[in-house]
Amino acid sequence: MTYMKEDIRSGGEFGFISEIRKMFPEKTSIKGIGDDCAILPQRSGLSTLMSTDMLVEDIHFILSKTDPFRLGWKSLAVNLSDMAAMGGKPVASLLSLALPSNLPAGWLERFMEGYRDISARYDTVLAGGDTSSSKDRLFISVAVVGECPEGGALTRAGARPGDLVCVTGILGESAAGLDIILGGGARNEEDLRLVRRHFMPEPRVREGQLLASVPGVHSMMDLSDGVASDIRRIMEESSVGAEMDSRNPAYFGEHALDGGEDYELLFTVDPSAQKSLPVEHFVIGKITDSGRLVWRDSDRDFCGFRHF
Ligand code: ADP
Ligand code: MG
Repeated sequence: MTYMKEDIRSGGEFGFISEIRKMFPEKTSIKGIGDDCAILPQRSGLSTLMSTDMLVEDIHFILSKTDPFRLGWKSLAVNLSDMAAMGGKPVASLLSLALPSNLPAGWLERFMEGYRDISARYDTVLAGGDTSSSKDRLFISVAVVGECPEGGALTRAGARPGDLVCVTGILGESAAGLDIILGGGARNEEDLRLVRRHFMPEPRVREGQLLASVPGVHSMMDLSDGVASDIRRIMEESSVGAEMDSRNPAYFGEHALDGGEDYELLFTVDPSAQKSLPVEHFVIGKITDSGRLVWRDSDRDFCGFRHF
């Protein structure tokens, strides 16, 4: 770590890390913060899953408009969603921060409280990380480690023609929440619910593991860029086509198809297994052998969110 600024809330880099250690005391057999590496016990018959995701100031969030607690929550949430997408059980995370000197007093504490809140909610240990200073922007990088039964991870590659395309929740609420924030803020309970969907998404961790245990579920991913572009990932990886609803009870608002950051799971399932799925879901399309993407009842070509 190379955090040079005085007082990461008094005490320099070691002060900050010892604060984090106090906030995240070891409660499991994982040896976490304080040494050169974290140590995770291994069990046979399981595979290890790893993933990482970065949040960059002014690309993924505007610092002055973002509540630190919610940002801490979301930093881990988006990583847990990747874990959920494979049917993995998250075990531990690593948190790397590049901190600008202009963070308001109390900001880091609130950020770490949000991170702790979601860590506890999803039973995940903060096992280490890195801390650096940054010239002007805040960078947050989280890595997550998880596990699943050997051979039990659900990839994007298994979709078969005839499969139904499903999602675990309503799409477009996060985008609607963002519109409310940009439009001046929440005016009622419903607005607040949508704003929360944007800032504090609930990764579908339990749902992902349940779905991965159903033999008829053939492929899965999490929705971060909007279903209109994410369905193409499954099509490409599985070499199939898809016929998708352009209108469906699962779609909310203007950006149901092309809005980002839903963090619901998109999966395909054999029709014979769909009725008895152990998870709430909506059917929004069907896998075909055409190799093409068709939107039913529409001549529009929907495009998902683009980062670049
Ligand atoms: P090293 O010099 O070996 O990289 P550091 O001084 O960077 O060690 O970190 C000391 C300990 O604190 C390590 O166990 C590391 O994982 C942990 N750590 C550093 N920064 C963070 C952070 N932002 N969140 C959690 N743990 C951290
Ligand atoms: Mg380090």
